[in-house]
Amino acid sequence: MNKNDLILVGGAGGFIGGSLVRHFHDKGFTRIRAVDKKPLSLWYQRTPGVESWCMDLSDEANCKTAVKDAVEVYNLAADMGGMGFIERFRIECLRSILVNTHLIEAANRAGCERYFFSSSACAYNVKLQEDPNSRALKESDAFPAYAERGYGWEKLLSEMFCQEYWAERGMKTAIARFHNVYGPWGTWDGGREKAPAAICRKVIEAKDTGKKDIVIWGDGHQTRSFMYIADCLKGIDMIMHCDKLIATPINLGTSELISINDLVTITEEIGGVKLKRKYDLDAPRGVAGRNSDNTFIKKMLNWEPDMPFRKGLAITYKWIEQQYRDRKAGKKTVKDVI
Ligand code: NAD
Repeated sequence: MNKNDLILVGGAGGFIGGSLVRHFHDKGFTRIRAVDKKPLSLWYQRTPGVESWCMDLSDEANCKTAVKDAVEVYNLAADMGGMGFIERFRIECLRSILVNTHLIEAANRAGCERYFFSSSACAYNVKLQEDPNSRALKESDAFPAYAERGYGWEKLLSEMFCQEYWAERGMKTAIARFHNVYGPWGTWDGGREKAPAAICRKVIEAKDTGKKDIVIWGDGHQTRSFMYIADCLKGIDMIMHCDKLIATPINLGTSELISINDLVTITEEIGGVKLKRKYDLDAPRGVAGRNSDNTFIKKMLNWEPDMPFRKGLAITYKWIEQQYRDRKAGKKTVKDVI
């Protein structure tokens, strides 16, 4: 890539897209086009010197406009959130298929060189995730297919589009299956937030209000792996530019398995508080256990996401605490509602 080549980032008003724009800007790329359907005033981050467009990428005509002159296209646009969102709004999740369908076609017709798709560990067969200690998922575990209802199937089908655009039309595509991403500039309130941000917020709230308890969704035994945003950005960049990985889905996550109870304990330690746990067994909880098998990524990239969870969470906690204070003071904060 030449530093003057145009990069298009879809979903740039959100957490990962907005952070990716900054990543390329900081690497010295001078022409970045950031696109999101949210009004600019609601974007989580705006990077100075970057073209920022409010545009709905589920519309075919908009996609054609958005990709004009782009050399690389990164699709981070999707209607998504934590379990509270994806279990309740399956139609919205499925409708994100329109974004990838139109954007990849437009990118191909415009002659873009490379196309990135942000897939998810939710594309994996849920039957392999019924136990908190289920074995870590390797790339071949997506088939036989039994993806997460709604959100997971959209990801799996969009992956196939990426594979066929390479097979039939020779466009270089990259597909990363993210495992939960967390960090500063992520959603932390409003209904779309994921477990690490939600637990940080609840602990911060409890400290602030003097509440002595914390509500946990499920029985707390569910396990996940959590990837820090900086690792995610580095991984996206490496996967997109690795020719051995063209059209090949690959895990992008850590292999450090954390239970929700562990997550609460670590957050309490960071916050310097101990709370009484109340388990809401009727709340959305997702699969029982999910971890990333990193054998393939280590082999292909000689690297895997490696930020220790405790360290990444401490940075995130601090950031959410500041957001919480800013909101109380009536200042602008990262805000996204269902
Ligand atoms: P996010 O909700 O913060 O950002 C997604 C952005 O896409 C939002 O700003 C939204 O407005 C935008 N968008 C949705 N529909 C659009 C459309 N039609 N046109 C233009 N913009 C549209 O989510 P995120 O955490 O930044 O996730 C980015 C990508 O990574 C998504 O594809 C998501 O499915 C995937 N992913 C994220 C995680 C995670 O833990 N955050 C895990 C697995 C996969």
